[in-house]
Amino acid sequence: MPSTIPIAALTDWLHRYRDAVVDKRDWLTELDSAIGDADHGANMARGMTAAVEKVEQTSPATTDELFKTVGMTLVSTVGGASGPLYGTFFLRLGAALGTETAVGPEALAAGLRAGLDGVVARGKAEPGDKTLFDAMSPARAALDAAVAEGADPATATARAAAAAAEGRDATIDLVARKGRASYLGERSAGHLDPGSASATMLFETLASAVAAAS
Ligand code: ADP
Ligand code: MG
Repeated sequence: MPSTIPIAALTDWLHRYRDAVVDKRDWLTELDSAIGDADHGANMARGMTAAVEKVEQTSPATTDELFKTVGMTLVSTVGGASGPLYGTFFLRLGAALGTETAVGPEALAAGLRAGLDGVVARGKAEPGDKTLFDAMSPARAALDAAVAEGADPATATARAAAAAAEGRDATIDLVARKGRASYLGERSAGHLDPGSASATMLFETLASAVAAAS
């Protein structure tokens, strides 16, 4: 099993993520209609469709170019909170990975850490605020722990995806303290946070792309 992830697999990740948010567009929108403004599915589907189109047009040769293309496209095509947040995630991921054509698990973990730091710098989310951070943060912790144990990339990313899903499900009971859902106060409890759902799909598709390349 190769211990590095080639840029082709990272590009495949973006295709899989685009397919997932397009496929689950109605579900993401339904989640956002309960505690937001019913546009999360449309936002993510539009943003990732444009991002993958741009990647196909420009065929980025390095990890830096690949993720910067995605980040810039998300920022410019998605008006909602999720555009700048996911956009920043990918911009920071690209900057951290640098001009590589393949990445090892440590570099990937460091890159995702930088991406999540970017999300926090922009949105100021804290644990338990009922945001996409509540799926991304446990995913990052699980990935770091797996990499520290010497797990191969497929195992490490699968553990990250499972941790994201747990974090997503735990948002149901939370009261939102950031974003539109926070306007509802206590009434936001009892609903799954839409951003935590799309963030879990981000880690699930990473795991499936890495597994397919292994
Ligand atoms: P909008 O809220 O502008 O309509 P979306 O519906 O696309 O944008 O995205 C909503 C999601 O964005 C929420 O479910 C939440 O997970 C995430 N979110 C909102 N504000 C923040 C924030 N400050 N930090 C992190 N995530 C946030
Ligand atoms: Mg919304």
